[in-house]
Amino acid sequence: MIKNIARDIYMIKVPLPENPLKNLNSYLVKGKDRNLLIDTGFNTQICYDALTTGLKEIGIAMDDTDIFITHLHTDHAGLCARIASPSSKIYMSRIDSQHIKSSFNINYFDNLETIFYSLGFSKEEFANNIKSSPIVKYAPPIDTAYTEIEDGYVIDLGNRKLKAVLTPGHTPGHMCLYVENEKLLFSGDHVIFDITPNITKWRGFYNSLGQYMKSLSLIKSMPIELTLSSHRNPMGNCNERIDELFHHHEIRIKEANNIVKQFPGLSPYDIASKMTWSIRAKDWKAFPVVQKWFATGEASAHLDYLEDAGMVKSTNVDGNIKYWPV
Ligand SMILES: [Zn+2]
Repeated sequence: MIKNIARDIYMIKVPLPENPLKNLNSYLVKGKDRNLLIDTGFNTQICYDALTTGLKEIGIAMDDTDIFITHLHTDHAGLCARIASPSSKIYMSRIDSQHIKSSFNINYFDNLETIFYSLGFSKEEFANNIKSSPIVKYAPPIDTAYTEIEDGYVIDLGNRKLKAVLTPGHTPGHMCLYVENEKLLFSGDHVIFDITPNITKWRGFYNSLGQYMKSLSLIKSMPIELTLSSHRNPMGNCNERIDELFHHHEIRIKEANNIVKQFPGLSPYDIASKMTWSIRAKDWKAFPVVQKWFATGEASAHLDYLEDAGMVKSTNVDGNIKYWPV
């Protein structure tokens, strides 16, 4: 299904079956010289069919089209190599592209296991379930060649200039695209209107929540009239939404801090089990393991934030991380 959103901008809804995100909002920006496709969907046949049908309806060919990936997650990057023509560039931030190269390799699950055991996950819970995660299953081929770009890089379509704005937080190298003279922002997963972007723990990227909040402030300082996000309802008031996101995380930071004060010496997994989550399950035990994984990653990001602010401290004994009040 396509929708003409603004002059020469089309949205293609790409379904993400069995995923709480429901759809990816992929955008096609028609240019004078080249077109630009922003994000692609999982590397699955269902996503491929929806995307190619949408592009056909708009009437463009991939021979005249480059691809911009807002961040490394597979619901955005998955199809990039399959959909690209030999002449298509696939733009991605250098940081996320390098992260893929350094992390999404044969050791990926070993590294991930080490991180999640250190956060308090049990071996039994982790092992079987995480390997079915869409993180790797629906990824583009590992040897995909990205055109790595830096903050401020401008993609000139002849009739529109789109500037890449580095907004680390949701991933280490997430990027938005900004069209200055139209006050138009493609916000990716940095600002989403109906759901809160997941902020988690990363290897080699410390205090992701602190960085995310800095990136929110950066976007708030820019004049924006139209925001187009990657999931659910694509449009809304960006400034108001950023305030809501700040508020949401402030409450979560306080909650995590109170748990550490009340129960000194817990692991991030145990702290996550005591936080409030908006998923339909009787209690923590009944959470699907993938949800526990997201929750533990999210709790951990809030604990890193608190530690960076000097409000809690962590100890690591034999690879087991625990948090203590200061
Ligand atoms: Zn994402």
